[in-house]
Amino acid sequence: MERTASVSTIKGVGEKTQKLFGKLNIFTLEDVLEHYPRNYEVYEAIKPIRAIEEGEVAAVYVQPVATLEVKRRKGLTLTTGRIRDKSGDLYVIWFNMPYIKKQIRPGTTYILRGRVTRQKQGMTMEQPQIISREDFEKRKHVMQPVYPLTTGLTNNAVSKAVAFALKNVEFSEDYLPLEIRRAYDLISYKEALFEIHFPKSKDSMIRARRRIVFDEFFLFILAMKKIKETKKQKNNFCEITEFAHCKKFMEQLPYQLTNAQKKVWEEVKADISGDYVMNRLIQGDVGSGKTVIAQLALLATAESGYQGAIMVPTEVLARQHFESFQKSFAPYGVEVALLTGSMKASEKKLVYQKLKSHEIDIVVGTHALIQEAVEFDRLALVVTDEQHRFGVKQRESLIKKGYEPHTLVMSATPIPRTLAIILYGDLDLSVIDELPGERLPIKNCVVNNNYRQTAYRFIEKEVSKGNQVYVICPMVEESENLEAENVIDYTEKLKMELAPYIRVEYLHGKMKNAQKNDIMERFSAGEIHVLVSTTVIEVGINVPNATVMMVENAERFGLAQLHQLRGRVGRGNKQSYCIFMSNQTNKETMERLETLNKSNDGFFIANEDLRLRGPGDLFGIRQSGMFEFKLADVFNDAAILKDANECAKEFEDSGVRLMLKKYQHLRRKIEVYGEGLYL
Ligand code: ADP
Ligand code: MG
Repeated sequence: MERTASVSTIKGVGEKTQKLFGKLNIFTLEDVLEHYPRNYEVYEAIKPIRAIEEGEVAAVYVQPVATLEVKRRKGLTLTTGRIRDKSGDLYVIWFNMPYIKKQIRPGTTYILRGRVTRQKQGMTMEQPQIISREDFEKRKHVMQPVYPLTTGLTNNAVSKAVAFALKNVEFSEDYLPLEIRRAYDLISYKEALFEIHFPKSKDSMIRARRRIVFDEFFLFILAMKKIKETKKQKNNFCEITEFAHCKKFMEQLPYQLTNAQKKVWEEVKADISGDYVMNRLIQGDVGSGKTVIAQLALLATAESGYQGAIMVPTEVLARQHFESFQKSFAPYGVEVALLTGSMKASEKKLVYQKLKSHEIDIVVGTHALIQEAVEFDRLALVVTDEQHRFGVKQRESLIKKGYEPHTLVMSATPIPRTLAIILYGDLDLSVIDELPGERLPIKNCVVNNNYRQTAYRFIEKEVSKGNQVYVICPMVEESENLEAENVIDYTEKLKMELAPYIRVEYLHGKMKNAQKNDIMERFSAGEIHVLVSTTVIEVGINVPNATVMMVENAERFGLAQLHQLRGRVGRGNKQSYCIFMSNQTNKETMERLETLNKSNDGFFIANEDLRLRGPGDLFGIRQSGMFEFKLADVFNDAAILKDANECAKEFEDSGVRLMLKKYQHLRRKIEVYGEGLYL
């Protein structure tokens, strides 16, 4: 079968399943093959209940004490009960699976497997799988893939589809010739695909991963090189030379720019007023004050008679930037507009008109900015904020709306300079390596469940002082729906734990944009005291009045991600606090989390995480969804990134070497990949 054949050709995949696959962006057999596991599961031997530790995933051989109960609570159906073996008993709970009640009967013995945590009622196994004896024996000690899913699609269905594709797709010759594979210690692509999905051992999984991650980086770097070549030193047709507004703007800021900000602003200024088009990345830790640099550049753009656009990854952030830009640009007669997907069609249309007629100078928006209907009169500057959420493709399609506009990319991603140069090959690099002076360092603590009540009392105390709190909800990985339920459920619990006058609300990825905006606006205005959220708040939100962040199940996050999250507090001049809750009190977890205690430096933290975890523990924890790689993680795979870069260097001679016959498959692969980047 061809790799491009539809998923519907898979045995057992009907129209309904095809649609579900579509939700995961899986349309062809190739997409199925590239839908990599996000983790693996190994069934360990059955454990007596008494031996289970908090936070552990375990399999037990048990009988229910009585018939299970089905309860409804806040739109959730809970199926609960107690189970026991000879050594003790446990509470069990399933969400929205009322049919379980009929599947589990007293007097019969079952194998249940799930994560056990301590809850109010005692040790509880959540959402356990029910496994037949036969299945359990067959799969014991074998690494089984755990796939990213969507509601309605089971892991089993995905596994079967993958197995089908592996068996039936014809693999052409490997596009990496043997000499490269030998030099960089890479197994064949075909073998890598088999072993990444159904590994024979941990070692073979690591080797498979190495090959696939290498490919992702290698193709990315080669494609970036191509982009860079097309961009080389283009003449500056949009000279931005008027800086009178900027001078005034700086004078009326309530603070002085830091030296690092001044230095970076001078670099940007030199670029946009100079001989060549600017292509610059500003890298600076969370809270280092990147936004003001973008504001200055946009203000100068407007003053020089051009238009500017700033694209951010979320509606909430777009709205926040829009409001602050509008207020601060008004005195200069600079017209600012907002453009997001959730706006009414008529409102959008008005913005389109005014952008084309140049009645709008600066537009702040989300992906909505790259819609075809958006046209500018004289677009001279494109800023993308928190760029790791955007693909190169999206950035480029906004740039194409102008004639050789300047590009400014802002990122808080704490990657070392050497890696940044590889990954942002098409951009010059500026670093804001200093935080604004008045900030008090965030106070951190890593605690376990025994401190939960103390933490709640602390939150109450902070709220009574007029401060606000973020609680990052425990991660549920099974599906997005579960994640939402989990946040809602947790919020209910928290409302009961905290004093009644404290207003607690929640935010999660499945909410409608209008709802999210509403919650964020009320949180910004101080009407909500405690905001329970998934990691959606990670990006760019600025509520200086928030002084506490509590992160549940902190051990399940990457350190760099925790650091990004923590950047949401400590943005004003008040003392801020971070509480990392973890049930897992083993030495490694504690040591890792303690790193956050030792440092507020994102670069240092990312490197430490890399050092402490080692290659065996690469799955399950992703540092962030940077650069849209499917498997590669810039932090975890830094060593492979360096190898891929070295290999790419051998092809630096403008593709001459690539013309050799033995690279024909590689050449095609790069072309396809590059087209993907360009649209
Ligand atoms: P980030 O780099 O994470 O995008 P922001 O630009 O959102 O950071 O800035 C964080 C906060 O710091 C904002 O409230 C901003 O007004 C403030 N800020 C920026 N520069 C300075 C400075 N030089 N001195 C004091 N506060 C500053
Ligand atoms: Mg920012």
